[in-house]
Amino acid sequence: MADCIFCKMARGEIQPDIVYEDDEVLAFRDMNPQAPTHFLVIPRRHIATTNDLEAGDTELVGKLYLAARQVATAEGIAERGYRMVMNCNPEAGQSVYHIHLHVLGGRPMNWPPG
Ligand code: AMP
Repeated sequence: MADCIFCKMARGEIQPDIVYEDDEVLAFRDMNPQAPTHFLVIPRRHIATTNDLEAGDTELVGKLYLAARQVATAEGIAERGYRMVMNCNPEAGQSVYHIHLHVLGGRPMNWPPG
């Protein structure tokens, strides 16, 4: 997707603060962090929302979570705890239409979320 900001990151046209990358997955710090640790994990391939996931994406989605765990461990939040959130569509607050797993930690989290 030519205009998608996360696709531009995946192609290396914009350089975020990368904390993990491989052939299929990229993780980088959120530019507007909502917790002491806040990074996003994305697939390099454009998928607009979780509503667009298909059966063939099962392994890719698993890789997002494994990357999240790896970075959470490296960031020192794995044992204390962290929250993973993927917002879908306007009512959930999705603002970038390229799926991304938010990983937040370093402070206590409230439940239910706002
Ligand atoms: P959401 O509202 O769930 O779609 O989350 C989008 C997230 O992307 C927000 O937390 C933004 O702060 C973050 N974001 C948007 N643009 C960038 C960027 N260029 N670099 C890092 N994070 C970004």
